Amino acid sequence: MANLRTSVTTKKLEMKPVPLLVLLLSFKPEGAKTKEDGIQMITTGKEYWYNACFGDEGYTLKNFYKEMSGGKFYFEPAKVIGTDTPGVLEVVLDIPHPDRMNREMPGKNHGVAFYCIAEALKKADPYIDFAYYDNDEGGYLSSDEFNVLLIHAGYDISGGKDFTDKLRWGVFANCGSLPEDENQDGIKGAIAPELDGVKLCAKGIGCYTLVGEYRQMGGEFIPHPIGTIAHELGHSIGFHDVYDYDKEVVGWPLPYMFSLMGHGNYGNANAENDVLKGSVPQHLDPFQKIRSGFAVPEEVNENGEYTVRSLSGVDANILKINTPDPKEYFLLENRQMEGFSKGLYRRRCTVDENGEPSDVCENYEQGGIIIWHIDEDIFDRYSVIKRTNGSGFFNPDTEEEDDAARHDPGIVALFKNGFDENGLLKNDGKFVLGYPEDPFFRGGDVFNSNEYISAATHTRSLNSFPEGVSPDTYNLKIEFLEDNGEEMKIRVTQTK
Ligand SMILES: [Zn+2]
Repeated sequence: MANLRTSVTTKKLEMKPVPLLVLLLSFKPEGAKTKEDGIQMITTGKEYWYNACFGDEGYTLKNFYKEMSGGKFYFEPAKVIGTDTPGVLEVVLDIPHPDRMNREMPGKNHGVAFYCIAEALKKADPYIDFAYYDNDEGGYLSSDEFNVLLIHAGYDISGGKDFTDKLRWGVFANCGSLPEDENQDGIKGAIAPELDGVKLCAKGIGCYTLVGEYRQMGGEFIPHPIGTIAHELGHSIGFHDVYDYDKEVVGWPLPYMFSLMGHGNYGNANAENDVLKGSVPQHLDPFQKIRSGFAVPEEVNENGEYTVRSLSGVDANILKINTPDPKEYFLLENRQMEGFSKGLYRRRCTVDENGEPSDVCENYEQGGIIIWHIDEDIFDRYSVIKRTNGSGFFNPDTEEEDDAARHDPGIVALFKNGFDENGLLKNDGKFVLGYPEDPFFRGGDVFNSNEYISAATHTRSLNSFPEGVSPDTYNLKIEFLEDNGEEMKIRVTQTK
C-alpha cells in the first residue's frame, strides 16, 4: 500500500477521463511443469476486470471516481488492438512469478518486480500504440496521460501470506515508478521501457499500479476488491496516504474510514460480511479532493447560515470555513448513507461468553456532517516524508534532523464525541479506534472548536495562532439547525 514515489504535495489534475490499461499477467516459464517452478495463471478472466474497472453498474472503479469528482474524472479503457474487452489485455510471460524469482535472488525484490513490469509492458506493446497517449509529446507517458494496472496472477500479500495449491505465489499491492538510467538491483531489464518511442512508468513522471489477482478477506480468497485498486491508482495520480505507518501512538487523530487514502479502501456496504471488505471504497478526504481539483470549496468568510449538501448527490458541496490563519481552516461535508458512503461502518468490540473479544462491524444507520481541521503548512511540510499522516517519528535514513519534532497531522476529521482530553481518539473498550459509534453532527448538535485539542502541542482550536489572535478567546461555533438529510442548514459564528 505504500507509495514508492514521493511528490511534494497532492497535485492538481485536469478533470477529464484518463486512459487505463488493465494488464492481466500470467506466468509460464518455458520448461516449467509445476507451480513450484513459478507457474501461475490468471483465472478470473478479462470480463471480470472490465466490469470491475469500467462497468457502469454498481460499485465499480468508474462509478467511484465519478461520484468523487461530480462526474468529471474517471479511468476509461485504453485502446487495445484486437480485443473484445476494451482496456483489458492478458499476457502470458515466459518467466516465473516474481515471488518465485525472489527465491533465486534474495534482497532484490524491487529489481525483480520492476523486471516483470517492464517485461509485461513489452509483451503488451503490439496491442497498444503508446505514442498515441503522449499528449505533450515529451517522450514520456505521465500519470495524467496514461495509467497501467498490472493484475498479477496469484494472491496479494496485503491480505496475508497464506497460500493455497491454486494460489501459490503473491505480490504486495503498490504503486511506484521504474528507474530511468540504471537497471534496478543490477537486474537486466529492470528499467523503464521505451516503447513506440515513449518511456513508460519512468520515475518522477509516470507510475505503475500493481495488485495480486486474489486477496484474502474474511478467511476466503476473492478477486481483489476495487478498494485497494482505487487507493493505489490514487497514488498514481498524486494522492498521499493518510494512515499511520508506525502506529507508535495509540489514537493518533487520523481520518481512518473517512478517506480513501486512510482505511477508506476497506469500505463495505454489508459490514457484517467480512468477505466484502473493500468492495465499496470511501470518498477521499476533502482536502486532497480540493487540491486535486475533484471539488471546489464554497468559501465561508462571514458569520451566518449556510447549507451543506450530500457528497453523493448531484449538488454536492464542501464548505471551507476560513480562520485567522489562512493556512488553517475547517472543511464541512455531508456524508449521507447513499452512493459509495453506504460502505461506511462502525466497529464495535464485543466479548463472548468465554470472555473472548472480537470486532463486529455495522454500517451506520444514518450519516450527517463530518468536520475536518486542515493545516496546509503541515501537510506541505511533511507530505514528502512517508509520515504525511503525522505519526510524527523521525527516520534518520530519509529525514533531516529538523523533521524530528512530533507534529500534528495536516488532515484531521473532528469526529463528534471522538476525542479525549489529550486530543487523541477515544478508546472506550467498546468502539475500536477510528471507527466511532456515531461521528456525525446533525440537527440540535453544537460544535465548538475550542473543545478540540491538538494532539502534538495541546493548543485549542488551531495548531498555531497568528499575532493578535488569542487561543483563549478564539472559537468557531457551528450550530446544526436541521435534522439529518441531503441538505443541512448550519449557523457559523466565529469569535476572534
Ligand atoms: Zn497507500
